[in-house]
Amino acid sequence: MSLTIALNRGRILKECLPLLARAGIEPLDDIHSSRKLIFDATGGYRLIVMRGSDVPTYVEHGVADVGITGKDTILEYGDGADFYERLDLGIGRCRLMVAAPVGADIDTGPLRVATKFVNVARSWYDGLGRQVTVIPLAGAIEIAPLTGLADVIVDIVDTGNTLRANGLEERERIVDISTRLIVNRASQKTRFDAVQTLVERLRAVTAPGS
Ligand code: AMP
Repeated sequence: MSLTIALNRGRILKECLPLLARAGIEPLDDIHSSRKLIFDATGGYRLIVMRGSDVPTYVEHGVADVGITGKDTILEYGDGADFYERLDLGIGRCRLMVAAPVGADIDTGPLRVATKFVNVARSWYDGLGRQVTVIPLAGAIEIAPLTGLADVIVDIVDTGNTLRANGLEERERIVDISTRLIVNRASQKTRFDAVQTLVERLRAVTAPGS
């Protein structure tokens, strides 16, 4: 039996499918048009497509031997994460930022922080020794300052277009993000050869320096 790979649907999936194809792993059905979520692939691999935040869960529990998701998701999953991070795939590059309305004073007084990345935001402000109120949101984070829900946001920024369109600007860079390969602890030991083959195949098609 070959490996099961948990894949982050959406933008990361779109960017990682060509990479997987170059590594000899291609789903036998069209992953974009199919309503299926589990796919057999060339090389005997099995692909499961899911929300990014579920990828670490599937890998930690060993339902998937390996997973592909963003560093943002891995950081948000937390310090207790029980899996190995084996490879930076060099795709899905972006950054986690604090953003605020253009020109706003965010250095004094109480601060309300809207974000999907509650744990990342808490540890960022803990690190700064600043007490803030973190407001969890599931989406459309950029409208939180506009609507008066929050003073700043912690969110993923790529081109910065979304921020600009909502009257926001980048203030603090928390961390650079890219897509990572994570490996279940047991699989890393009991299926070492298969895991190593996959890591080497992906490393070979990943841009150098990533
Ligand atoms: P942009 O307008 O290019 O700065 O893109 C910002 C939005 O795109 C954010 O709200 C993110 O949710 C999303 N985004 C950008 N890059 C990525 C990425 N590499 N992975 C996941 N989401 C991203």
